[in-house]
Amino acid sequence: MFEDNFRKVEPYTPGEQTNDPSVVKINTNECPYPPSPEVEKALKNLDLDKLRLYPQPACNLLVDAIAEVYGLPADQVFVGVGSDDVLSMAFMTFFNSGKPVLFPDITYSFYDVWANLHGVPYKQIPLDKDFNIVKEDYYQENGGVIFPNPNAPTGVLVGLDMIEDILVHNPNRVVIVDEAYIDFGGESALPLIDKYENLLVVQTYSKSRALAGIRIGMAFGSKKLIKYLSDVKFSFNSYTMNTPALVAGAAAIRDKEYFEMTVAKVIKTREWMKEELKKLGFEFRDSMSNFVFATHPKYKAKDILEYLRSNKVLVRYFNIPRIDNYLRISVGTDEQAHKLIDLLKDYIK
Ligand code: PMP
Repeated sequence: MFEDNFRKVEPYTPGEQTNDPSVVKINTNECPYPPSPEVEKALKNLDLDKLRLYPQPACNLLVDAIAEVYGLPADQVFVGVGSDDVLSMAFMTFFNSGKPVLFPDITYSFYDVWANLHGVPYKQIPLDKDFNIVKEDYYQENGGVIFPNPNAPTGVLVGLDMIEDILVHNPNRVVIVDEAYIDFGGESALPLIDKYENLLVVQTYSKSRALAGIRIGMAFGSKKLIKYLSDVKFSFNSYTMNTPALVAGAAAIRDKEYFEMTVAKVIKTREWMKEELKKLGFEFRDSMSNFVFATHPKYKAKDILEYLRSNKVLVRYFNIPRIDNYLRISVGTDEQAHKLIDLLKDYIK
């Protein structure tokens, strides 16, 4: 069969998208608030004649803005089409030793997809029974390490001391910390990039910067890591990011005040939601992200999922061992959170 020589992969399944405005969509950890008004201004002022031209291959406009805001030299910043693009490039670039890359058994379910796509061997390391990363498990021989902090979908945050221990034990391997949710209360590993040449920190505009639709992700690391990553990117596609994304991204990152206000609102709603979920008997690890990963001792997650769906509330469910009785509930607006809690109150009484 001629298909015998095709690349065969099991694709990642993203959370459901809907255009129905009456649906409370708290299933994919998007920001419930609009992006900074500076983004609207920047896009309105965009000279459409610019679209005749290819975008900047090195994305200088965006890289320089990010570098300035984060206080880094531009050659320690890499950008891509969402952090999915950045992470996929990083798998291709850094996990090339033939030895297994290590990541938790319960984590972002794109990691094993990229490993399979790029032919990277991997080993999934079980979290402990409370969903903690056991750092000693990452001291074994490996081809690299990757984990999100806070972890997804568990929401569990680790401290920088644990990250440093993992870095110190893997001096000749790249350790990627995927900080998609770090802005919601965690401490970023960014200050460690000058201390550890093998650390790559990846962040995204999709959550705390309310721009999932424009697709911007970034990586920070030593000049050496960023150089190798850029070489792979330029061997793959010179123009991964489009001009409107570069313009919008530069405007968004500079509006620190709006960013801080948005994040504070999400955190406030999250804390309220946690209290209410607890009162209803839900159990969860404390979340430092924009979602809560909860289970109920008396009710099946799948039944709750269906009940919420029939009431036009979408949350995320993973039919995966160990977590198949959990729901991942994104933090929405106060109004959305109230609708969720009111429905759950009715269900549980
Ligand atoms: N990492 C983690 C842990 C995520 O949950 C997500 C969101 N699905 C991503 C990376 C990718 O986000 P994006 O491509 O939108 O930046």
